[in-house]
Amino acid sequence: MSTPLDVGTTRGRVFVVGAINVDLVVAAERLPGPGETVVGTRVERYGGGKGANAAVAAARAGAEVHLVGAVGADANGTEALDELTAEGIWVDGVTVLEDEATGVALIVVDPGAENQIAVGAGANAALSAEHVTRALASHLRPSDSVLVSTEIPDAAVEAAVIAAASAGARCVLNPAPPIPGVADLLGYGPILTPNAGECLELAKMLDDDHTHAREAAAAIMARTGAPVVVTLGGDGALVLTPDGNVDHVRPRPAVARDTTGAGDTFNGVLITRLAAGDELDDAVRAANVAAALSVAHVGARAGMPRATDIEVGSR
Ligand code: ATP
Repeated sequence: MSTPLDVGTTRGRVFVVGAINVDLVVAAERLPGPGETVVGTRVERYGGGKGANAAVAAARAGAEVHLVGAVGADANGTEALDELTAEGIWVDGVTVLEDEATGVALIVVDPGAENQIAVGAGANAALSAEHVTRALASHLRPSDSVLVSTEIPDAAVEAAVIAAASAGARCVLNPAPPIPGVADLLGYGPILTPNAGECLELAKMLDDDHTHAREAAAAIMARTGAPVVVTLGGDGALVLTPDGNVDHVRPRPAVARDTTGAGDTFNGVLITRLAAGDELDDAVRAANVAAALSVAHVGARAGMPRATDIEVGSR
């Protein structure tokens, strides 16, 4: 059974390593074809990037969050850091790179909510393994938890997983997208949180081809010796643990208006609850509730719930 989130002082800190972007969204009558210009009406700007989004979800769920990543020395970077600081997130671990632009996602959305996205990774692509190691190695304690996602260079992901393992800290790796280097990191025993497609892709990278996410997750778990949590969109999540147990955490009823950032909410709340001392199945249930709450709102961060909303939604 789920317990209320412990907002006391005994829980560990959460370190999130991942991308920080600015999302520029244009609403248009239709998506442009090659070489075509389509004039839209509404223009919106949202904070984005898997790392930054998950950090916001974790902070709202009650964690002390330290974000590790990179932005450029530009107005987008300043704005991104201001927004994150306003959420109560520590951004000392975010390096500001003089010669890089802050990552930008250019998104066109049509009236049917179909979209077209081009991402300029900018500073995220220049996040170095040395920076990640510096930001984590001398700071991490065994009671801390590290969430890593893969929209940053392979070497930076690897540095984060190794730093967590060296410190004896818990590590959750969200392989979105699965990177070629992930296979080499499985021996460090991270908890993996792929969605169903990423799960199949990851198993394929391990030369273990499967058509069902459950078998693919079992093949991955055989390499990590750690739990695998497969997110299934509106179908909830599958939790596999090394003792052979498989638990389907059922979907929460939700009117999905925008599922952008559902995975980031799930991961941010999962790591928060694990850091607070929850058992994995309780943490997954809370993450499932939080992600279902988040899809009811347009924008990745707009619907990310606070700890009290998650508690109410869990009843
Ligand atoms: P995204 O890339 O859109 O952020 P993802 O592909 O990483 O998401 P999903 O498996 O689509 O991850 O969704 C993550 C979690 O969000 C699910 O496990 C579930 O808890 C919640 N979720 C997603 N879609 C819905 C929905 N339609 N109704 C309720 N919950 C949902």
